[in-house]
Amino acid sequence: MFDNLAKKFISIVKNISGYGRITEKQLHQTLLQVKKNLLEADVSYIVIKEIITQIKKKVIGKDINQNLTPGQEFIKILKQELISIMHHKETEIKIHEKNPNIFLIVGLQGSGKTTSVGKLGYFIKKKYKKKVLVASTDIYRPAAIEQLFMISKQSNINFFNTNTFHDPIEISKRFMKEIKKSSYDVFILDTAGRMHINQNMMQQIKKIKKIIQPTETLFIIDAMMGQDAIHVAKKFHDDLSLTGLILTKTDSDTKGGSALSASYITKKPIKFIGTGEKISSLSIFNPERIVSRILGMGDIFSIIEVINKKEKNKNKKNNVEKKFDLEEFKQQMSNIENYGGIKKIISNLPINIFNNSQKKNITEKRILLKFISIINSMTPLEKKNPNIIKMSRKKRIAKGSGTTVQDVNQLLKNFYETKKIIKKIKYHGIEKTLQNIKKIIPKIF
Ligand code: GDP
Repeated sequence: MFDNLAKKFISIVKNISGYGRITEKQLHQTLLQVKKNLLEADVSYIVIKEIITQIKKKVIGKDINQNLTPGQEFIKILKQELISIMHHKETEIKIHEKNPNIFLIVGLQGSGKTTSVGKLGYFIKKKYKKKVLVASTDIYRPAAIEQLFMISKQSNINFFNTNTFHDPIEISKRFMKEIKKSSYDVFILDTAGRMHINQNMMQQIKKIKKIIQPTETLFIIDAMMGQDAIHVAKKFHDDLSLTGLILTKTDSDTKGGSALSASYITKKPIKFIGTGEKISSLSIFNPERIVSRILGMGDIFSIIEVINKKEKNKNKKNNVEKKFDLEEFKQQMSNIENYGGIKKIISNLPINIFNNSQKKNITEKRILLKFISIINSMTPLEKKNPNIIKMSRKKRIAKGSGTTVQDVNQLLKNFYETKKIIKKIKYHGIEKTLQNIKKIIPKIF
């Protein structure tokens, strides 16, 4: 879902890269762009204002770290800001060993409460090996209790049947009795939501909360919610003192703004994200990972800058093509490895340049290592002048690296193709360079 946001940040970095220092004018223009992008991603205006203020404070007049370009420095600061908005203490769910763990699940109708109850129970049972009992107070939505029963069966957790009761308060009291007498470790109570914030609903959940005294009050927020997220989250938090959030439907094509808004306004951690309809589709929320995804271009830019810098230096010496030899090719491959491998780079790309079956075929690490070991078996003369590598040398190199002559041929073919593309990469700008990377990657693998 954050890919949308990621796409928008490409042009920002493109616009400010290349300067030795970010001037106020450039900063102003860049921040306008950031603001526009965040607004389009449905991040609330209050949150955007805070982000902009913090970035301004940190960037104005700052000399650029020698190893970073302004683009990278700016992205670094933006990344820190986004992380700090979503990073709150106690992200882990608290599981007490001695006392019962009571979780109250609240949120609007359709946000994914009932599904999350099942997912959470399944997660706790699997990770903490705890006995879980779930129940629902939702007597309003037809078949809501039945739905939880079905979900609990799928998750292999226990279900407290409340079908015979007609009042949520009565259900809560009975559930509390059960909590006191039974030997379960974790109790999860689902509540009825409404389409919109509703005073009756809030009053009722407040009463339920008083009765069951939850150890966690978890607000379920739909990632597709958009600008309303900030108001809804605020109301739930003001009335119910939330302890955490679960962001659902992150697998959908949403803009990502609700996560930032809800987290900012409640100052409570997003503890989990729902990543699909399946019972196992729940992951612990990791703000660093999400923000890296939003701004995942950072890794790509680092690689591009390495290539560009080397290319510029070589250009100065007036002989670009000849300087790109097999030793340099090996260095480039090691760089890719250092950045976490092609797979990581691809997963961070804001543009989906490979289909799933292509992605599956990328066995990059093995091949990278194979190519590196082939180059290691060459003499310095061969690395500098690959054109002298004829059959007898190929056989020797293959033997020395434990590979085959075909492998050596493959490596040489990729080397020559990469060399051709590298010639074109210079001064092309980010988008063009990405397209070039798209061309290089399938050829390497
Ligand atoms: P409730 O009214 O808040 O209890 O919402 P439900 O749990 O019934 O969920 C509403 C719909 O959202 C159902 O169709 C769920 O399958 C779906 N849903 C819940 N969580 C997720 C999620 O993380 N990803 C996707 N794709 N669908 C979800």
